Amino acid sequence: MSKTALIIGVTSQDGSYLADLLLEKGYRVVGTIRRNTTYDKPNIQHLIGKITIEAADLIDGESIARLLRQYQPDEVYNIAAQSVPADSWSHPIYTGEVTALGVVRVMEAVRHFAPQARVYQATSREIYGNVQSIAATEATPIDANNPYGIAKAYAHMMTRCYRESYGLFACGGILFNHESPRRSLHFVTRKITAAVACIKNKVAHPPLDELGRPLVTPDGKLKLGYLDARRDWGYAKEYVEAMWLMLQNDTPKDYVIGTNSSYSVADACRIAFAHAGLDWQNHVASDEALLRPTEITVLQGDYSLAEKELGWRPQTSFEALMQLMVEADLALFK
Ligand code: NAP
Repeated sequence: MSKTALIIGVTSQDGSYLADLLLEKGYRVVGTIRRNTTYDKPNIQHLIGKITIEAADLIDGESIARLLRQYQPDEVYNIAAQSVPADSWSHPIYTGEVTALGVVRVMEAVRHFAPQARVYQATSREIYGNVQSIAATEATPIDANNPYGIAKAYAHMMTRCYRESYGLFACGGILFNHESPRRSLHFVTRKITAAVACIKNKVAHPPLDELGRPLVTPDGKLKLGYLDARRDWGYAKEYVEAMWLMLQNDTPKDYVIGTNSSYSVADACRIAFAHAGLDWQNHVASDEALLRPTEITVLQGDYSLAEKELGWRPQTSFEALMQLMVEADLALFK
């Protein structure tokens, strides 16, 4: 009989790739969306009719518990979160409600109604905040320094707490940044590739940035925050494979998933604009309004444990990733 997987947050970049992967593997997939008045869910258009869609909200514990009772899933992937670090400064309480306490609602629902289910919790590199080292492993101390990272640190520690206290098969994926054409426009790589496409294709009405301004100004400029910020960036499609592998292992554990390399925002701009035959320095400017109150230090994800125990390693270079995102946006923004 095929396994059932519950993906909380199937509309996300990761949730939608995970649904693709699990369908390929023969799973029955139940994915949650949030009820809202508009129905604009581009990441899951291709999944309609292939997965079961249910409404649930991490703020509403009963909506999660009901699904655990009804579907008795073999695997639960909690992908949902208030996932935008920059927004966590303006919405710290909401971020704590969803990204931190929401995880306890999931764990409680599993504990009471489907304790046999294996659980994947999306935690984040941001739990390490300002750690002063080059590469992080699972043993690196938690030192989060923004409301999102602190909420994820709580989620991460609660995942371990439910594993150790109640014997749940719960794994925390400490994922470094991962991108794709399905990445939300809130995030810098996608802003860059969308801007490249809008400039190249002379799009009259570009999408809006997080401050509600056109992503590209009429004179063809993209405004970004700190251009020297460095991140470890991988390809989301490969990272969801690591999530699945964690739940197939004999023992539940936390794993760092990254590429153990890093690039700056300026590098991302250079690669993306060059791929469309443009010089980024003519089009990108740093804007103080987009700076974070505190930056996180440079840190790379040492994925040795995942490689040794799960057989997982990243495949796609950062350059290839930016290029495939530019190609997708050139086709999308016409
Ligand atoms: P994403 O595209 O930003 O999507 C976030 C998801 O959470 C969406 O499905 C969203 O639903 C859902 N959501 C938000 N608030 C919710 C609530 N109150 N109740 C239920 N669902 C809610 O996320 P992503 O980039 O794929 O990342 C997936 C997970 O990994 C997130 O937890 C993120 O914090 C974490 N993470 C991501 C990265 C990365 O680089 N991508 C790195 C480390 C960790 P709507 O569609 O309704 O908004």
